[in-house]
Amino acid sequence: MMRRLLELLACTLTVGVLAAALVEPDGLALLGSAMGASLWFVFDSLRARRVLDWLRHGSAAAPPAAVGVWAEVVERARKSFKTLNRKSRKSEVRLQEFLAAIQASPIGVVLLDKSTAIEWSNFTAAQHLGFDTKRDLKQPIRHLVRDPAFIDYLSQGDYAASVEIDGRDATPGHPQRISINLYLYGKGRRLMLTREVTALELAEAMRRDFVANVSHEIRTPLTVVSGFIETLLTLDLPAPERRQYLELMGTQAQRMQSLVSDLLTLSRLEGSPVPGVGEWIDTQAMLMQVVSEAQALSEVLDSGPHQVLAQGGGPRFQIAGARQELHSAMSNLVNNAVRHTPAGAQVRVGWCLNSDGGAGFYVSDDGPGIDAEHLPRLTERFYRVDRSRSRETGGTGLGLAIVKHVAQRHGGQVLIESVPGQGSTFRIILPPSRVLSGD
Ligand code: ADP
Repeated sequence: MMRRLLELLACTLTVGVLAAALVEPDGLALLGSAMGASLWFVFDSLRARRVLDWLRHGSAAAPPAAVGVWAEVVERARKSFKTLNRKSRKSEVRLQEFLAAIQASPIGVVLLDKSTAIEWSNFTAAQHLGFDTKRDLKQPIRHLVRDPAFIDYLSQGDYAASVEIDGRDATPGHPQRISINLYLYGKGRRLMLTREVTALELAEAMRRDFVANVSHEIRTPLTVVSGFIETLLTLDLPAPERRQYLELMGTQAQRMQSLVSDLLTLSRLEGSPVPGVGEWIDTQAMLMQVVSEAQALSEVLDSGPHQVLAQGGGPRFQIAGARQELHSAMSNLVNNAVRHTPAGAQVRVGWCLNSDGGAGFYVSDDGPGIDAEHLPRLTERFYRVDRSRSRETGGTGLGLAIVKHVAQRHGGQVLIESVPGQGSTFRIILPPSRVLSGD
């Protein structure tokens, strides 16, 4: 400030003295001083204009040259600019990190403005609902998601619950269900969250089917048994007839027992840790055991006997896993071949080493075979091609589901090949890590 006063004084005096020295009379010295002061004001206004222009449009990197108080103004403004720039760069980085995190989220996020047009959306939501995050910005959401259930939900304004609609990729054979939640925020804005719930819905549907199937499977024999009990209590039947009823009751009780036993096996398989590779099992010994059990079953079946043949000759080897589980899986396959083929059918059972070092257990029969349409569903719980035949032969519809579980728990898989009219081959394939060959 002092410098500015000195400048003004110097200018005023210099022009005043010059005027007094050069021009007569002396009174003009006063006018000269006034001109000097005006000159200084013009000069100072120009400096102020330069600083103002820089403040309005300039950057912190290129400040104007200035002296005195203007130099200080410029310096302070430059420092403030720098601090502001640094802060806004930091905020920008944080915003980008935040948006990247929302982009990576498996939950879809859409911001809707007051008129429910899209302000911003992550890719997950766009994928769920089938719009484009850039092209469809500012588009009203109701023009992009036209499901009536969603339109109702959006317009009713009560967002306490969620709404479920088909996703963009949903087809009759490949369902995709999306759950949508809306939340109000700010001044009339809405936050929309989308979540894929297909797996949850499928699991829930499977659970419902499972409970319904189990109830149905148990109810049928129970009804038969309670009917017979009623008859035996009310009628005084002759001994042979009584015996016949009791035998039928025994068969039904046996059926319920098998069902409960298979259900327990399945739940044990689902709930217990994967078997380690601690115990090595001789494949040939286990093969002979399941073959002789199947021969015994074949003898008692009405549709027996069959020729159950153990195939050997190849190199002997061992497999690692849970003995009881593997035995149960193998005997399920051999018993199925006996139960689902007519008398005299040939069933060949064996183990082989695969070229990758893994091993395969196979059961091949020359029975009626299975139509191709059933093959993908055979390992589902309670799926049967011929329900009454399955029941007649003591089946529960859970055998192949157990086989699949056991194979998967040992890192393997179940393969099924069948030609209607010619026969079927069921295989359990185990990975090399579970095989110890003598070679
Ligand atoms: P089940 O107790 O009915 O045998 P599974 O799960 O073991 O149940 O088998 C499912 C269905 O697969 C059977 O009901 C039967 O229709 C079919 N199936 C299984 N093995 C054979 C086979 N070797 N030949 C023909 N059909 C078979």
